[in-house]
Amino acid sequence: KSPAILLEKESSEVTFADVAGLEEAKVEVQEIVDFLKKPNAFTKLGAKIPKGVILVGPPGTGKTLLAKAVAGEAQVPFFSISGAAFVEMFVGVGASRVRDLFQQAKGKAPCIIFIDEIDAIGRSRGKGALLNGSNDERESTLNQLLTEMDGFGTNTGVIVLAATNRADMLDPALVRPGRFDRHVYLELPNLVERSAIFRVHTAPLTMAGNIDLKILAAQTPGFSGADIANICNEAALIAARRKAASITMTDFDEAIDRIVAGLEKKSKIISVEE
Ligand code: ATP
Repeated sequence: KSPAILLEKESSEVTFADVAGLEEAKVEVQEIVDFLKKPNAFTKLGAKIPKGVILVGPPGTGKTLLAKAVAGEAQVPFFSISGAAFVEMFVGVGASRVRDLFQQAKGKAPCIIFIDEIDAIGRSRGKGALLNGSNDERESTLNQLLTEMDGFGTNTGVIVLAATNRADMLDPALVRPGRFDRHVYLELPNLVERSAIFRVHTAPLTMAGNIDLKILAAQTPGFSGADIANICNEAALIAARRKAASITMTDFDEAIDRIVAGLEKKSKIISVEE
C-alpha cells in the first residue's frame, strides 16, 4: 500500500480571515506562521523553533480549521492524518505509517503535519485500555511518534500541529520539552464571537434584508463554530426547499430548532452510553 493513501496533502487555501473569533489562539499560532516563512530570522539568533504544538478545545471549535489556516497563511503544504486512523485502520502498521508520514513531510519542508485526535495514539499509558485489544499497537505507534519528534532537528522546517479535546489524557512523554511542549487553547465562542462566525458562514449566502446576526448569536449559546456552520447551511437548504429567492430569519429559526433537536438527541445517546 502506498503511504499516499493516508497522507492527504492539501495546499491549504484557508486563511486567518476564515477563522472567526479565536483571537488569542491566532496570536499564538502567528508565531508558527513566522517560523515557517522566515526561519532564518529565528535560527540566526540561535533560537530553537518549536516542533510540536497541541491545539486543545471542545469538538467543533475550529482546531482543524486553525491548523489549515496556519498552512494557508505560511503557504506551505499541509499533511493531515487522524490519530484514530493510525490505530484503527492500519493495525500492525501504525509505526511504519508514522515513519512514512515524517519521511514524506521532511521531503516537502517547510510544511505542517496535522494529527487530529492525537489522544487516540497519545493517551496516557495504562489509561483506558482499548476494547479491541490494540493497546500494543497504539503504544508502538506512540513510541514511533516520539522517536520521530526527537529525531528531526528543530530547524528542519516541519512543524507538527496536533488536536485533542482532552489534554489531561495525554501521555506525559508526548508533552515533554522538544516534543509537543506548547498548548494553544480554543474555547466555545462567546456572543460576539458567534456573531463573527455567523458572518463568515453567511457571507456566501443569498439572504433577505431582515437577517440579524446578533439575534442569531443570542439564540445559540453553547454552540460551537461547527454547529453554527451547520445552521447556516441548514437554513439555506430549508429556503431552497420552499423555492425562496432568499434566506429569511424564519429559515434560520427553523434551522436552529433542527440543530438543537439533533444536539439533544446526541447528548441523550451519549448519556445512555455512559
Ligand atoms: P473536532 O474536535 O470535532 O475535530 P475541530 O475543533 O477540529 O473539531 P473544525 O473541524 O475545525 O473543528 O470545525 C468544523 C467546521 O466548523 C469548520 O470547517 C468551519 O466551517 C466551522 N468552524 C469551526 N470553528 C470556526 C470558527 N472559529 N470560525 C469559522 N468557522 C468555524
